[in-house]
Amino acid sequence: MKLSALVTKTAKESSKADVSRNAQLLIRAGFVDQLMAGVYSYLPLGLKVLSNIERIVREEMEVLGAQEILMPALQPREIWDQTERWDKVDVLFKLKGAGDRDLALGPTHEEVVTPLMGRFIQSYRDLPKAVYQIQTKFRNEPRAKSGLLRGREFRMKDMYSFHTDQADLDQFYELAIEAYKNVYRRCGLGDLTLVTYASGGVFSKYSHEFQTITPYGEDIVYRLPDTDIAINKEIIEDKEALAEIIPNYKDGDEKSLEEMKAIEVGNIFKLGSRFTDAFGINYADAEGQQGKIVMGCYGIGPSRVMGTIAEVLSDDKGLVWPDEVAPYHVHLVSLCRDEADISKCNEIYDTLQKMGISVLYDDRSGIQAGAKLGDADLIGLPRRVVVSSRTLAENSVEFKARYDDMAVITPIETFYSGGCTR
Ligand code: ATP
Ligand code: MG
Repeated sequence: MKLSALVTKTAKESSKADVSRNAQLLIRAGFVDQLMAGVYSYLPLGLKVLSNIERIVREEMEVLGAQEILMPALQPREIWDQTERWDKVDVLFKLKGAGDRDLALGPTHEEVVTPLMGRFIQSYRDLPKAVYQIQTKFRNEPRAKSGLLRGREFRMKDMYSFHTDQADLDQFYELAIEAYKNVYRRCGLGDLTLVTYASGGVFSKYSHEFQTITPYGEDIVYRLPDTDIAINKEIIEDKEALAEIIPNYKDGDEKSLEEMKAIEVGNIFKLGSRFTDAFGINYADAEGQQGKIVMGCYGIGPSRVMGTIAEVLSDDKGLVWPDEVAPYHVHLVSLCRDEADISKCNEIYDTLQKMGISVLYDDRSGIQAGAKLGDADLIGLPRRVVVSSRTLAENSVEFKARYDDMAVITPIETFYSGGCTR
């Protein structure tokens, strides 16, 4: 992609409307645009990042054997009455449809997926099953001042699993934890993301949140030293739970846990038969007896993950995208002025593309070198390659990794043969 053709431009000024760090950076760099609090457009660079995160999530859910579906955002009141959640979910967007019919915009999809799967699950032979979707969700959040971290319209992957019994659910749930860890690792958040015990509601003792540590986080978690495990703020009061979670627990041990701020990037729950009971859905076991179907639900917000990466991995110069989520892999900056050099730089662009490397090519004329390099830092692709009359005189390019301070001059051929890393 040539920067001269890209529809967006970077901005020097950060928007005053949205004060969160992730929104400021993403708006300045032209990845997203704010329509109103908690509601964003994804622009070409931003949509690539979001799609990359969703691709990673999709791949890891497929490993679990879950099958992708797409359910409606627009939902009738009746299904929400059936689970008694029409008046209980405070963030539910309610609206009137034709004929004055009460409708909701889906904040989550247990009410849709449970009767849907009930139509296909009759006996134990039909279980276990898991389905997921990646979809736009709506929540009327009272505060939406954290950029992509808390949207009123946002992206969610929600997966639902169906089992004959608790043991089968437990087994799938453990595999889901591993799949989630893979997602965060591939999104560059692996070292910072803690599997966090949270209270589980009626049907299981605990649920698990995936919490990414950052001073900008809204949540507080307590980390077990030298592990990727933490306990969230509500559960830290529960001595019985502490005794189960902390090895060799003695009264007061929780004081040695490290208190940290974090962003919840995922949340998984064992739902038991809360929803299958509400919709009267059972299965027949091998003897033909009716059994309860137990469910798990597993959420990740790809747009919140994108905001978290922007928030946590950026530096004072701008965004820093990990390889697998970056919109392009190489930011090729031309500082060439005369025709011969410009055409050499165009050749490098073509060659990289032929090698299957995705390139954002700053081919703009009449822009100062400093501004071009500043834009490269702000946009934050993993690799920057600068080509100028000076480097071309030596048949070389200047290479710098985004997270590195040092640039190196590399012969063009060496650069190509090294897979364009060095
Ligand atoms: P929170 O505690 O942050 O309000 P939640 O516990 O209500 O979130 P879930 O219903 O479990 O969230 O949703 C699953 C995932 O969807 C969350 O872990 C988060 O990654 C994402 N998510 C939830 N609400 C939002 C939102 N308003 N904007 C962006 N992502 C969200
Ligand atoms: Mg939560």
